[in-house]
Amino acid sequence: MQTFDVDLFVVGGGSGGVRAARVAASHGAKVAIAEEYRFGGTCVIRGCVPKKLLVYASRFRDDFEDAVGFGWSGLSPKFDWAKLIANKDAEIARLEGIYQSLLEKAGVEALTGRAELIDAHTLIVQPRNRRLTARTVLIATGGRPMVTDIPGAGHAITSNEAFHLDHLPASIIVVGGGYIAIEFACIFQAFGVTTTLLYRGPKILRGFDDDLRDALTTELEKRGVDVVCGAEIAEIDKRRTGLTATLKDGRPIDAGQIMFATGRTPNTAGLALEAAGVRLGPKGQIVVDAHSRSSVDNIYAVGDVTDRVNLTPVAIREGQAFADSVFGGKPTLVDHELVPTAVFSTPEIGSVGLPERIARERIAKLDIYKARFRPLKHTLSGRDERMLMKLIVDRETDRVVGCHVLGADAAEIVQVAAIALRLKATKADFDATMALHPTVSEELVTMREKWQPPSAAPVPPPQQVARR
Ligand SMILES: Cc1cc2nc3c(=O)[nH]c(=O)nc-3n(C[C@H](O)[C@H](O)[C@H](O)COP(=O)(O)OP(=O)(O)OC[C@H]3O[C@@H](n4cnc5c(N)ncnc54)[C@H](O)[C@@H]3O)c2cc1C
Repeated sequence: MQTFDVDLFVVGGGSGGVRAARVAASHGAKVAIAEEYRFGGTCVIRGCVPKKLLVYASRFRDDFEDAVGFGWSGLSPKFDWAKLIANKDAEIARLEGIYQSLLEKAGVEALTGRAELIDAHTLIVQPRNRRLTARTVLIATGGRPMVTDIPGAGHAITSNEAFHLDHLPASIIVVGGGYIAIEFACIFQAFGVTTTLLYRGPKILRGFDDDLRDALTTELEKRGVDVVCGAEIAEIDKRRTGLTATLKDGRPIDAGQIMFATGRTPNTAGLALEAAGVRLGPKGQIVVDAHSRSSVDNIYAVGDVTDRVNLTPVAIREGQAFADSVFGGKPTLVDHELVPTAVFSTPEIGSVGLPERIARERIAKLDIYKARFRPLKHTLSGRDERMLMKLIVDRETDRVVGCHVLGADAAEIVQVAAIALRLKATKADFDATMALHPTVSEELVTMREKWQPPSAAPVPPPQQVARR
């Protein structure tokens, strides 16, 4: 029988790879893992965690402004970007250390370096040219930012560099309409950077519920972000004082910095996957079955490199399921439905289940419940910001199939609502749930009026109009 150096070799020490390596080792497997940059991967080093720390930092601006309506005065805060970045870096280094020690404690051999396949069972790890054989290989190499191929693109940055700017520019163009673009646009704008969000599509946040997309656009504009849709950059020129983006329609826009957040591409280049027989999809992603197995029997893949649902908790779940199935004797499948998701814009979005447009394609009859209101806090703060809550209900079964929130703490609210949707809660269950007062989320259990499109809504009698 063929023998191997290890039972499992994991390529990539991010969310999915580290979880898979640790769990496989806990099931008794001999495991090695290689990471070419820093253990922790995108989420910890240059994704979710540092991003959320910057989001927290950016939101103090609102707190200082809102405090005045509650009687506070004399606040003259100053912001120090370099200090924020240094503190953020220290925290990221601490987390990286925790990831490494978790691997060590689990008995996983952690190698620093780039791993590539030689054949389906053999890998080489650079820079030391170390060769290892493995019975099973897991590819968990994640993704990287895509930059549009235009003249001068090299002058722009991506989210990777945005975490390490040595100073804030006076102005920035953030290119993209997805969650990363929007989050960074909000971060920069809150720190006083004149911000343009430039997106080639007709409306930001493709794939989200249209009401959320419209309401967030309104709130971003109220905050001063210049949201420009239907526009694309043709080229970027470097000037003595900054950059000029020339749009495809010939319009020039000057900015201190330009950041591309135009999507991410799976990290499969240069791994020699095709040589080993691994089938790739059109975006370069590894094609896997429900068990995360590739077209080669002993090679599996989890996380962003498979381009299924590109979020950290999903990568972790896939890594865990792979290790339990292959090394723990517990075949486990990951359910990719009902994945709650957030946009940590300010105000933020939380969303779980179907957006209305998709629900209408799949479900014959729907009831929609919507509330757009000014939260109690802003009666005194004076902030002109409105919350949006929306439930989408299958009329036949009364099941709530979508829950969408825009406003403070939307992500926290939707994480909990996701449990209800998972348990197949009906609108009657929401209605029967006692409200927790005074909160904004009580609106989710007190919405009684079905929303009707303006043309179908009954015209209120004149005296009601007068009273409003
Ligand atoms: C700016 C930003 C913000 C984000 N915010 C959120 C959020 O709020 N919530 C959320 O859920 N998700 C968020 N994400 C997405 C999340 O980070 C990813 O979904 C998650 O990290 C995927 O985990 P992974 O294990 O698949 O890959 P990764 O975490 O990307 O790990 C892959 C690792 O493999 C390494 N690697 C690549 N090739 C090799 C090789 N040949 N040899 C050795 N090592 C290699 C890389 O260096 C990397 O460390 C964000 C991403 C970005 C970029």
